[in-house]
Parts: sequence; C-alpha cells; structure tokens
Amino acid sequence: MIKADRFLKGGYSMKCIDLHVHSSSSDGTLSPRELVLYAKEKNLAAFALTDHDVVDGIEEALAEGQKQGIEIVPGIELAAQYQDREIHILGFFIDYKDPYFLERLQWIQKERKRRNQKMLEKLNDLGFDITLEELKSVAGKDLISRAHFGKLLQEKGYAASITDAFQLYLSPGKAAYVQREVYSPKECIHFIHEAKGLAVLAHPTLYDLSDEEIKDLIKILKAEGLDGIEAIYSLYTNEEEAKLRSWAHHYNLFITGGSDFHGKNKRQIDLGTGRGNLKIPYELLEEMKKRLKK
Ligand code: AMP
Ligand code: MN
Ligand code: MN
Ligand code: MN
Repeated sequence: MIKADRFLKGGYSMKCIDLHVHSSSSDGTLSPRELVLYAKEKNLAAFALTDHDVVDGIEEALAEGQKQGIEIVPGIELAAQYQDREIHILGFFIDYKDPYFLERLQWIQKERKRRNQKMLEKLNDLGFDITLEELKSVAGKDLISRAHFGKLLQEKGYAASITDAFQLYLSPGKAAYVQREVYSPKECIHFIHEAKGLAVLAHPTLYDLSDEEIKDLIKILKAEGLDGIEAIYSLYTNEEEAKLRSWAHHYNLFITGGSDFHGKNKRQIDLGTGRGNLKIPYELLEEMKKRLKK
C-alpha cells in the first residue's frame, strides 16, 4: 500500500474501517470468511469481529484477512447488567485463546442454556407445542436467543410476527420471559483486560437513559477501567455523536465507531457504511493501538 494514497487533500484518511461487526458465529448471516470478502468489496482497510459472547469466528476471519490484505481486530460484545437494564461492552484486541477469558464465555453460554430451558418450559406451560430440537433447528449454528424463540413462534402460527411474539411473550414482564444472568460491567471490563484487550462502552444511546444518566454511566465505568466509548454508530443522530465525542474527551476515553452489521438480520445496516453515510476513519484504530501499548 502506498502511504500517500491514504490521505485526502485536507489530511483526512480515506482508509475506512468498521469496529462493530457480527458474523454467523453469533447472530449475523455472513460467515467470518464471507465478511472479509465483503469488507474487501466495500474497500475497508480493517474491521473488528465483535460477535456476542463467542470468539469462534476470529481464527477464520484472521486467516482470510491475511489472504485478502484486510486487517482484522479480534473482538467481542458482552452483555452486562447495569441497574435494571442490559448494556453492552465491546472488547478489542483480545487474546481470544486466553483460557481464563474462554472460561468466562463458557459460563455465559451455560447460563444462556439454562435460561432458554426455563423459557421453553414456560411456553410449553402456556400450551405452545414447541421443542428444544425445533429451536435448535431454527438457530442453526447460532447460540439460541430470544430472537429464535420469536421466529419459531411465528413459524408455528403462535404469533403473527417476531415483533408480536416479543410483545406478547418474550419481552421483560411478559409471560414467557426469563432473565438471563450476565456479568456486571466491572467484571466484563476486568475479563477483557485480563485477556489483554481494550474495553469500550457500546452504543450508549440505546439504553433508554437520559443524557445525565449516560454521563453517570460513563463516569462509573471509567472508574472501573473503561478505555473507550463507541461514539460513531449507524443509529446515532449527529447530535448524539457530538455529545458522545465530547463526553469521551472529557473522561479521557478514546472513541470507536462501528455499524453493528448483522448481514440479512438487520437489512437496513450495511458493513462500514451503516444506514448509508457512516464513515469511520482508520486513525481511530491507530489511537487504540497507542493505548494498547501504555
Ligand atoms: P437474548 O440475548 O436471548 O435475550 O435475546 C436477544 C435477541 O432478541 C437479540 O437478537 C435482539 O435483537 C432480539 N430482540 C430483543 N427484543 C426484541 C424485539 N422487541 N423484537 C425483535 N427482536 C428482539
Ligand atoms: Mn446482535
Ligand atoms: Mn449491542
Ligand atoms: Mn452488536
């Protein structure tokens, strides 16, 4: 790569990246290899694979990335319990083979299975004829999530749509809902650090918190070791992005940016470009690498 072609006239980088991407190892529809090929088609210089709770896709993405000349950042997206809600913590540059880290992921998966079994029993008690085998076949290679419950209920005619299934049965407070136990944000940050990674608060505007509450959250997590904030994201308004950038700056946190691409599972969001105009400069990755060295 010629260094000079990285810069536009104003000094802005033309190299674009995406630091929030899901493969079919979690709930995306493209395999890690297909993601790399698609990233190449979209002219991305790098992307982070941040599947929910699993690192299974990373090796394949790294191998294909090397072949295609696309930089792959090994990542993860963890759910964490914050007060009465679930928030998401992204990990970047994690040692995805770290045995301690893998043990934590195994606990998360075991707990998900327990929760799924309980939800299945509740649905059976409500009179719905669904089985674990059917759920497994709906989920395919994915870990079974409530989205698969929704799909199965719809397929079997027990709900008009997946949204309907959530509204009637699967959302918090509804008859078949069972809460999944997850780690605290502090624990997630700690595990990511143990695995030599950087911990970043994902999409803070999606938690139904006021500005003041988001600032409180950032302050608390900063004290617990948070490294960065996802300040560029497919679903933000310009105003939201500006606020998050200024809060990141205030707390000396670096910023990341990502589309949250899920392939056909979120059709309106494309890799790298989000809803069409997302642009995440490669420089963000360079800033992260500087922090990594500290
Ligand atoms: P879980 O991690 O098993 O609790 O399930 C989370 C999954 O359910 C994610 O894929 C969400 O996108 C999906 N989900 C959550 N709420 C809804 C909803 N109201 N409608 C459709 N999908 C939802
Ligand atoms: Mn997802
Ligand atoms: Mn998320
Ligand atoms: Mn995500």
